[in-house]
Amino acid sequence: MKFLLIDDEPFALKLLSRQLANLGFDQVVAMEHPRDALAMLESGSDSFDIIFLDLQMPDMDGVEFVRHLVRIAYTGGLMLVSGEDQRILHTAETLANAHKLRVLGALHKPVNPDQLKKAIAAAPQQHEKTARKVYAPDELKQALNNRELINYYQPQVDLGTGRVVGVETLVRWQHPVDGLVYPDQFIGMAEEHGLIDDLTRLVLANALAQARRWHDMGVPLQVAVNVSMDNLARLDFADYVAHEIAKVGIPLASIILEVTESRLMKDLLTPLDILTRLRLKNIGLSIDDFGTGHSSLAQLRDIPFDELKIDQGFVQGAHNYAPLRAIVEASLAMAQHLGMKTVAEGVESKLDWDFIQNTDCDLAQGYFIAKPMLADEITSWIPVWESGLPTLIKTRS
Ligand code: C2E
Ligand code: CA
Ligand code: CA
Repeated sequence: MKFLLIDDEPFALKLLSRQLANLGFDQVVAMEHPRDALAMLESGSDSFDIIFLDLQMPDMDGVEFVRHLVRIAYTGGLMLVSGEDQRILHTAETLANAHKLRVLGALHKPVNPDQLKKAIAAAPQQHEKTARKVYAPDELKQALNNRELINYYQPQVDLGTGRVVGVETLVRWQHPVDGLVYPDQFIGMAEEHGLIDDLTRLVLANALAQARRWHDMGVPLQVAVNVSMDNLARLDFADYVAHEIAKVGIPLASIILEVTESRLMKDLLTPLDILTRLRLKNIGLSIDDFGTGHSSLAQLRDIPFDELKIDQGFVQGAHNYAPLRAIVEASLAMAQHLGMKTVAEGVESKLDWDFIQNTDCDLAQGYFIAKPMLADEITSWIPVWESGLPTLIKTRS
């Protein structure tokens, strides 16, 4: 791997170069002047896997440099480094992410060697979802007809006991040529082109059939299914869902619909009608990605949700970042006042797990526990997870 370090302090450059050398990386170019670094990148004379960028520099600050990286379409990784207040570092990271740069981390100066090692080790994982292709509505339509959409399931565990209590259904497209395609590549398109009703019906039908199989095996998992706001435009949706659940013969309460409002709804009355009736029928309703976009306080006021999912953007890193901790704790307190169950999403590391275990959040979901998997894998995974519990669960007060 080849690194470019940009920092106006020669000492900081030396220190970081030494730390990288200690980790076995010797292809390092260090530069004091961001304008020189930019000129070099623009000339294309050299290319780098990771740029370490100091935020505070006199002739061009890191935020401005990030803007130039976007302009020249830099595709490598970016590591932000700063001696500044953690919130500035965090905001700069958000900004660079919003520009779709591949941000690998934000490191506080002086850089801790362990953190450096971890941030670099995590780098290749960021490549995982990079192959993006744009699909035409007709291709998805055909995939729906051919039943190429399959459900993955991600476990949710009780934070008090560690036991697996449910799963979230996450759809993937098993593309005959491209392999596994993730939902962020087709859900938005399905919504825009009127395919989301068919998609949700297929996902729900498969999830219900699977829920039934788990019940029959004596593993009565709660099954959550994602529902788009666009599914809530037809008044018969509540009856349709209740009917489908009755058809497979499982308790209505074992199904939870996760709703997230990704864009502003023109007609609010129809979704409100449907959601209220779903609750009256005792089907679980979860507010997804809580705290982001339109998934917020106004929705809690207006819609009778009984579960709140704290967005992973608040959960990850809350263990060492006070503003996130404040947001998670306030969300949990509010949910508790409203009598709602709480789920922490995106519990990705042991540190995230330990943090959330020390709150009174009810359930956790995330890569630390397990990645989404096929239905058959769930039943063999459960005993493996549960055998590791004694070391993971602290008694909660
Ligand atoms: P979501 O509902 O917020 O689902 C959670 C996403 O976070 C999933 O991505 C999951 O794989 C990922 N995730 C889980 N744990 C972790 C973690 O520890 N770290 C990180 N970095 N990510 C984690 P996925 O499966 O790619 O789904 C993306 C989004 O697509 C979902 O976000 C949901 O909004 C949408 N989606 C998925 N399936 C369906 C569906 O059947 N219908 C609809 N309408 N939307 C769906
Ligand atoms: Ca969800
Ligand atoms: Ca979510």
